[in-house]
Amino acid sequence: MLQFTHHGAVRGVTGSCHRLTLPDGQAVLVDCGLFQGAETSPDGANASQLEIDFPLDKVRALVVTHVHIDHVGRIPYLLAAGFRGPIYCSHASAQLLPLVLEDALEVGFTRNRNLIGKFLALLKDRTVPLPYKHWQTVVAGSPGLRVRLHPAGHILGSAFVEFDATQKGQTAQRVVFSGDLGAPYTPLLPAPRSPMRADVLVLESTYGDRVHDSRKTRRQRLQALCEHAFSNGGTVLVPAFSIGRTQELLYELEEIIHRHAQREAAPGLAWGDVQIVVDSPLAADFTAGYARLKEHWDAEARRKLAAGRHRWPSTR
Ligand SMILES: [Zn+2]
Repeated sequence: MLQFTHHGAVRGVTGSCHRLTLPDGQAVLVDCGLFQGAETSPDGANASQLEIDFPLDKVRALVVTHVHIDHVGRIPYLLAAGFRGPIYCSHASAQLLPLVLEDALEVGFTRNRNLIGKFLALLKDRTVPLPYKHWQTVVAGSPGLRVRLHPAGHILGSAFVEFDATQKGQTAQRVVFSGDLGAPYTPLLPAPRSPMRADVLVLESTYGDRVHDSRKTRRQRLQALCEHAFSNGGTVLVPAFSIGRTQELLYELEEIIHRHAQREAAPGLAWGDVQIVVDSPLAADFTAGYARLKEHWDAEARRKLAAGRHRWPSTR
């Protein structure tokens, strides 16, 4: 019998960390995220749960769905607790993961460059990038386990994860962990495709109770909001997530500017002259990371690139 244990994202929606245990006790973790927001408040249930409070001796590997901090932020604690296995993730996630964890350590833990450098070297050593749609053996023998990643359309490098759990003389069990899934037609990233099947599905569903506006409607609202602010002589401040949302916003703002370059956004201000400032080191680093990983952009975004658009700096 397969067993599922959730070491996070149980009472709330952050701190994702799921454990899949095989009949002989060997196990794999999917994500190891930080608790955020209300879940870290003094009377929050998870306030003191930074340390890894579960046994690791039979954990053979960690699979990372994507590099948002609520899915990867406890990796330093995992390594400190003695986890020795590989960290599997997509190629793009393998490049972005050190940026996120370096920032998290600097902001929340230490400014000691030597210590951070040692951690990043260890992280690089343990990280095993996997191509999408490629089976990788995690546990050889019987029982056995293999893993395969598929694009999730959430942020660059994001994946949902398929496992095949095998045991001699029995049919393989297919287990799917969703991670965070992007909506179809998200800017920049290819839409996720549904898995063929699943015997067990572990689905994360932060916004599962909401119906999103279409992308076109959202872009029109963004344009109208900017024009309203500019016509009052104002500036638009957007408190966006550094990773994913900032790059989507830059992408959509470029589309608005491209379409309306000669038109006025406000009296005396052409859309082509509107300035955009990304005022966050992590967001700037990540935007540069997105620029270096253009081969993972969707077909529409690559067409725009070929036409000379989206000249994002690939270094900060
Ligand atoms: Zn996420």
